[in-house]
Amino acid sequence: MVHEHDVVIVGAGIAGLYAALEASRSVDTAVLSKVFPTRSHSISAQGGTAAPLGNMEEDSWEWHLYDTVRGGDYLGDQDAQEILVREAVEVAYELEHMGCPFSRTGEGKIAQREFGGHYSNLGKGPVRRACYAADRTGHAMLHTLYEQCVKKDVRFYTEYFVLALLMENNVCSGVVAWDMRKGGLHIFHAKAVMFATGGYARAWKVNTNALSNTGDGMSIVLQAGLPLEDMEFVQFHPTGLYPSGVLVTEGARGEGGYLVNHEGKRFLEKYAPAKMELSPRDVVSRSIQTEINEGRGIGGKGYVHLDLRHLGRQAIMEKLPQIHELILKFSGIDAVTDFVPILPTSHYAMGGIPTDVNGRVVMDAKNTPVTGFYAAGEGACVSVHGANRLGCNSTMDCAVYGRRTGRAMARFIGEGAEKNTLPKDALERGRTKVEGLLAAKGKESPAAIRDELQQTMMVNCGVFREEKLLKKQLEIIKSLQGRYKEVEVGYKGQRFNTELLDVIELGNMLDFVETIVVGGLARTESRGAHYRTDFPKRDDGSWMKHTLAWKTDSGIKLDYKPVVVTRFQPQERKF
Ligand SMILES: Cc1cc2nc3c(=O)[nH]c(=O)nc-3n(C[C@H](O)[C@H](O)[C@H](O)COP(=O)(O)OP(=O)(O)OC[C@H]3O[C@@H](n4cnc5c(N)ncnc54)[C@H](O)[C@@H]3O)c2cc1C
Repeated sequence: MVHEHDVVIVGAGIAGLYAALEASRSVDTAVLSKVFPTRSHSISAQGGTAAPLGNMEEDSWEWHLYDTVRGGDYLGDQDAQEILVREAVEVAYELEHMGCPFSRTGEGKIAQREFGGHYSNLGKGPVRRACYAADRTGHAMLHTLYEQCVKKDVRFYTEYFVLALLMENNVCSGVVAWDMRKGGLHIFHAKAVMFATGGYARAWKVNTNALSNTGDGMSIVLQAGLPLEDMEFVQFHPTGLYPSGVLVTEGARGEGGYLVNHEGKRFLEKYAPAKMELSPRDVVSRSIQTEINEGRGIGGKGYVHLDLRHLGRQAIMEKLPQIHELILKFSGIDAVTDFVPILPTSHYAMGGIPTDVNGRVVMDAKNTPVTGFYAAGEGACVSVHGANRLGCNSTMDCAVYGRRTGRAMARFIGEGAEKNTLPKDALERGRTKVEGLLAAKGKESPAAIRDELQQTMMVNCGVFREEKLLKKQLEIIKSLQGRYKEVEVGYKGQRFNTELLDVIELGNMLDFVETIVVGGLARTESRGAHYRTDFPKRDDGSWMKHTLAWKTDSGIKLDYKPVVVTRFQPQERKF
């Protein structure tokens, strides 16, 4: 079956829905999602969304820009970062006017809280910049946008799994998707296609992400012959609940929570004496991991303590109610009276599908755009987060760049873009993945392959990296890719075949992880979240550049493009 729309957006998180809302003001817009829209991973964003509103104290977009540039260890493109911080203010108020239920100050303004890496006066700080809805900010934003999209008659195709991008001669004409509920392949033919497919942290055993975050969009782009950008930069959030990795928001430290080791010491004194627990995430994650590695985890084990007890019951219940509940449910611990065991947990993709500042996907180091193909959100790389994202900058990145991309697609169509001819083998591009996998015979267990991938990514491609381990991981990935060809799907039906779904997602994970390891092996420096113990210094002379990685028959091919520097020249970071 072929569906015709002006715009087809894959992904119903904050980025996809904001784009849909904007595009649907002037063109016929459809959104495809493998999960019900309000179950998209954005729902779990807890702590806040960054905008220099200055509601609690003086703030400015220049300070926010400086923090974002420095927080990203100077790898972010400063033109894109400036757009983020300037448009954040407008977007926060736009969300408020749509009905987003932000927490309020006594005067009724949007309340704001502190978050790691956000400071006043060019790094002096701290500053209260994170707008929040208790600790359910993503929930509030996602539901607001979904309601607005429903009001605008955006067409939703829920539980459709996109398998392939339809692209020929660098022109995009649509996607192929599998109807997960009823079975069957569908073609979506459009003038503009957008990927807002989110992140990939499920490739690590200890992670904060939803089951659905398997990096599908990134792998589909690789499979279509396009590159991914800066994939070696993977954020480990400092405070995952031990042992699962479920997130305890940075808002907990923003509200005054602190970290202690086995000796009961606030060990951040040693690593980041000025900013302590409110240093950027890469710094705090490495500090925690170092304490654990050197035997100062609690009882010598793989975790340290987050102490929230001094905040008191009332503040915890008012400002961190969901966190209190999560900790209770997952660990049986009452954070009002007890220490919370935490460890760094895989969290966020700084890299992704390369785009320009209007969301157009680019295909090479010269930033040549692919006609009719757009991307935004965590699955894209524009790049505003550089080598390390600041807390609260992601939901705002999704909102600002989702909105810009929706507008850009509407403009593209308004200027006369037509639907391009579908490739002759359009349906075949999806068929191999569904029918091919269902027909395959083999002896390998997908669960065993996934488990080995997740366990080894933790050990060999985690908070700390080195050549020997990355090389080992590359070999493991190649062997897992080989074993994947021998996987058999036991249940052969097409309706709600979650076993098949797991296998397709596993295949996608095995694809994009290779770009992370190969890009990380090549980058012989430490910058932001990419820390090489064998190259512990940042090397601006050789590495002030973005990595582009393509998948080819002979392995991953790399190329590089310059970082856009406008206002702030690279300097050493000290916190
Ligand atoms: C626990 C947690 C807390 C967080 N807290 C914060 C916070 O406080 N502040 C902040 O700024 N950021 C936070 N983040 C990060 C932020 O929430 C995410 O980066 C952001 O929400 C990603 O939104 P998105 O629109 O890019 O994608 P998502 O919300 O992840 O949505 C992805 C969409 O793509 C669809 N999709 C994917 N693949 C396919 C496919 N093959 N076919 C069809 N559909 C597909 C999915 O169905 C889904 O609709 C947090 C993240 C986590 C994990």
